[in-house]
Amino acid sequence: MEQTFIMIKPDGVQRGLIGDVIARFEKKGFYLKGLKLITVERSFAEKHYEDLSAKPFFAGLVEYIISGPVVAMVWEGKNVVVTGRKMIGATNPSNSEPGTIRGDYAIEVGRNVIHGSDAVESARKEIALWFPEGLS
Ligand code: ATP
Ligand code: MG
Repeated sequence: MEQTFIMIKPDGVQRGLIGDVIARFEKKGFYLKGLKLITVERSFAEKHYEDLSAKPFFAGLVEYIISGPVVAMVWEGKNVVVTGRKMIGATNPSNSEPGTIRGDYAIEVGRNVIHGSDAVESARKEIALWFPEGLS
């Protein structure tokens, strides 16, 4: 069954949004397959976002991701990658529809609460990176 990697970013954890995000994915009908609260090192954050290393915002993005604990999760279900991205909303909260996570809880693109894998292949890579111990 299809899986995706979802991460509640440091601002989402600090603002008390963990329960709400998990509830949305649970109520949608997806299955929680892995979850941990983890503070990652700079090199790990750079690896996670390596495809964006040439972007002008890359250094700030890495600082943001290492600024506090994140909640790393694996969710499973039919079309969970694309549907998860729809539930998260557009990258820039100025464009995120109300009813999406970013649309409801964020204003700044640099503090947009949550990450979701953008394709089945990137989900596979991200799950292997964040859960090298495997899933139970
Ligand atoms: P994510 O990968 O975190 O789920 P995304 O796939 O919607 O987000 P990406 O293009 O992969 O968008 O960008 C990764 C993250 O980099 C964004 O979620 C945001 O936190 C940050 N980011 C993207 N564009 C900008 C920008 N113009 N200025 C500052 N930060 C940005
Ligand atoms: Mg992305």
